Amino acid sequence: MRLCAVSVDLDEVPCYAAIHGIDTHAASAHAIYEKAVPRLQRFFAREKVAATFFAVGQDLTHTPNAEALRDLQASGHEIASHSQGHHYDLSQRGRAFIEDDIRQSLDAIERATGKRPTGFRAPGYTITNEMFDVLRSLGLAYDSSVFPCPSYYSAKTAMIGAIAARAWSGKTKKSRSIIDDPRVLLAPADPYTPGDSYWRASSSSRDALVEVPIGVTRHARLPFIGTSVALAGEIGAQLLALQMVGRPVVVLELHGIDLADANEDGLGWLRPHQPDLRKTAAQKDAAIRAALSVFRTNGYKFVTTHEAAMASRKAH
Ligand SMILES: [Zn+2]
Repeated sequence: MRLCAVSVDLDEVPCYAAIHGIDTHAASAHAIYEKAVPRLQRFFAREKVAATFFAVGQDLTHTPNAEALRDLQASGHEIASHSQGHHYDLSQRGRAFIEDDIRQSLDAIERATGKRPTGFRAPGYTITNEMFDVLRSLGLAYDSSVFPCPSYYSAKTAMIGAIAARAWSGKTKKSRSIIDDPRVLLAPADPYTPGDSYWRASSSSRDALVEVPIGVTRHARLPFIGTSVALAGEIGAQLLALQMVGRPVVVLELHGIDLADANEDGLGWLRPHQPDLRKTAAQKDAAIRAALSVFRTNGYKFVTTHEAAMASRKAH
């Protein structure tokens, strides 16, 4: 099996401001949907890729966003849930809160597109056994939140610490991001059906819910995500992609911001905090395209995350 599932988390600009503990400039508060989504749509049309867009339910109260989502679906893309409120600490809330939040997102997306999503990705990749139970009870077919990546884990932990230090000195607010359970690093890196613990595969496939982990390279488990691919440049992106070849399912998780452009989209204020905004949208487009060409050359078929999850379940 050689499948490549490209997905895009539609975190809107205020999500990034919250991570870095700064305020959003109101004029560019919808830059992801207004500027980056049309670029992504053109990108996927050119590349002939059907992708999965993970949308945050609350963004769809803004009518143009709901229309953009419907349009993406009409172009053959899958729309899945990235929660209702994108609370970075969703996993720490009570079960009723978690269930409400995820159900609301499914409702909001169904209202916008006419189709109920089958997949979920947690804010900040932070998921728990309790959240898995909620996903099962809501009848979802797959989750794609587990990120078994040691270097991402340590970088995120360090970044939260650095932002906390700045916050204590009074320069910024505290980061809204939270630290994950380190056991996630023991999780399989290829799609699996979770057992008693979400980070452990189970051979008794009574569980219908499939986990499609975020991409890590085959040996060093380096992050294979939009940020690392875009920042690596075209050659670097191809080298990273080559380290993914051999996985039955290559997952490339992008964010809307991966095709945002600080100058064209009025995001200059966010650039000092967000390294990927130092590259232009055209540079990032070229790097992601270079990575995809590696998979195409190596016989990978581009599918949605739902299709990758269903194919993995059959293969078990
Ligand atoms: Zn997110």
